[in-house]
Amino acid sequence: MAWGYRLELMGAREGARCREDGRSCAAGKCEGFPLYVSAYRYARSNARAVTVTRPLCVKHARLFSMKYSLAWPDMLRRVRRQLAVTWAQLAA
Ligand SMILES: [Zn+2]
Repeated sequence: MAWGYRLELMGAREGARCREDGRSCAAGKCEGFPLYVSAYRYARSNARAVTVTRPLCVKHARLFSMKYSLAWPDMLRRVRRQLAVTWAQLAA
């Protein structure tokens, strides 16, 4: 059983680590450079929940988000930036 599907933009530090390790997208034999991180939790047989994270390229991150009806991180970021601009305007 798995739940708690999430999709996040890879942070600069994680991205740099992936580049150093020469890691590519976790989907099959995809050679795409990972820019996103997918995460989900699943229960092991000993009833302990484990969080699994996988680096994904843009294409597979999009497939992942569609499969689990997740919000696309770019959009979230854009909304947040707009909010920040609004707050800055209010504060001015
Ligand atoms: Zn991929």
